[in-house]
Amino acid sequence: MTPRTSTLPELFITFEGIDFCGKSTQISLFYKRLQSCVRDCLLVRDPGGNAISEKIRHILLDPGNTQMAAWTELLLYEAARAQMVQEQILPALRQKSTVVCDRFFDSTTAYQGYGRGLDALRVEAANRLGSCGLTPGLTFVIDLEPEKALARKVKSRQTLDRMESEGLEFQHRVREGFLEIARREPERLVVVDGDRSIEDIQSVIWDRFNRVFPTAHLK
Ligand code: ADP
Repeated sequence: MTPRTSTLPELFITFEGIDFCGKSTQISLFYKRLQSCVRDCLLVRDPGGNAISEKIRHILLDPGNTQMAAWTELLLYEAARAQMVQEQILPALRQKSTVVCDRFFDSTTAYQGYGRGLDALRVEAANRLGSCGLTPGLTFVIDLEPEKALARKVKSRQTLDRMESEGLEFQHRVREGFLEIARREPERLVVVDGDRSIEDIQSVIWDRFNRVFPTAHLK
């Protein structure tokens, strides 16, 4: 496993939340703003971001893979993450880039641990392997009631992937998972109310980012 220095995680920001909470919308706005004020930055999504992880993502999200066992699902997420950390995130952090990631190991804790009901200690151990020991310096959880997320889902009329097709009860367990992680790690996770306007949510996120990150990282 590649060793990391203590300065690395400070530059690593992740976004989490249930499906259709507004995460992509916020990441896109945040990243545009970030690009204008830091020297170098990288945006990746987990699972995905590189050729190997995108292939694993395709297997994971394929609605046809109805037979996938929960442990297989967990290990595929970890495999995709390990590739992304080694190939993209660690090299970028070493070059002092600010890395923004759409989901990371908190999603595995919430979806496979709380959602699927896999044993928490085993999920945690798998997360340590998949992330190669890397922990984000700051994590935003966009929190939204699953019923409200469902309304956005219906309105958007998108084709749903395998995970998004899970029902409301599943989304409730996942949401509770994210909130529980945030209660356990209040220093790292910031819960943002996803039921406000897009602009309001973004301003909460940007303010918090500026408070947590020292100005030395800015241009
Ligand atoms: P996610 O990435 O979490 O699945 P998206 O950012 O794609 O969610 O948003 C899902 C849908 O909800 C999109 O149609 C988007 O335009 C809409 N949306 C996002 N944020 C808000 C918001 N704060 N209020 C109302 N609708 C929103």
